[in-house]
Amino acid sequence: MTHPAEIEVLTDEELLRYARQVLLDGWDLDAQLRLKSARVVMIGAGGLGCPASETLVRAGLGQVHLIDDDVIEASNLQRQTLFLPDDIGKPKALTAAHMLEQINPLISARGTVARLSQDNAYELLDMASGKPDLLLDCTDNFATRDVINRISVRYQIPLLSASAIAMQGQLALFEPQLNTGCYYCVFGALNADTEFDERTCANSGVLASTTAIMGSLQANAALQYLGLTKNPLTNKLLIWDGSLMQQRIMGYRQDKQCPICAI
Ligand SMILES: [Zn+2]
Repeated sequence: MTHPAEIEVLTDEELLRYARQVLLDGWDLDAQLRLKSARVVMIGAGGLGCPASETLVRAGLGQVHLIDDDVIEASNLQRQTLFLPDDIGKPKALTAAHMLEQINPLISARGTVARLSQDNAYELLDMASGKPDLLLDCTDNFATRDVINRISVRYQIPLLSASAIAMQGQLALFEPQLNTGCYYCVFGALNADTEFDERTCANSGVLASTTAIMGSLQANAALQYLGLTKNPLTNKLLIWDGSLMQQRIMGYRQDKQCPICAI
């Protein structure tokens, strides 16, 4: 992560915009500067990516890069909060990035219409200019999550993974550099032989509030990690059940036999 000293001050405009945040107990100018210095890559600009990126950009995240190869459909408008009816047919990544820069002109938002893979990750994540500070998985299927997890472990980039389906969601923040486990340690075996991984928003449905809540929780964890250098979910999986209005935290450990992250 870029040290705050490299960006010495907040401008008057930034101080005004982020005034309520800098006032917070436990969030100071250094936290705001760390957030301004941070670069986040978000994979998926849909139901999770819209609320998560909007909150992070409003809060003052310096650079966000959205990667998504999808176009906006009418059925997305129920939950994908950065899009308007006139946007139907346009690429999600570019439309979301444009909207984010309108919401906060003091930050930089970029969109790339592409599908992230292990082959194009180095280029798409712009690794030549340094590692992103955080990857946000905002996708909706296990196959893509598995690819993102492999990229996170290979390049040792922290991964904040959220999922939302029907009225349920899950959230975890993996730090491969600490050997505390990865997405596969938690879900690999489970998904390999169950039907759970086949469920997507497209075939199972999702309540509008589920993605809004999970995207907000994802932004909440990202702000703590980027601004305060604190992982609020070390070895913890957050599970949200919207029908019961209940949140549970479950512990997990690195699987020492994990084919992805175990040495
Ligand atoms: Zn693992």
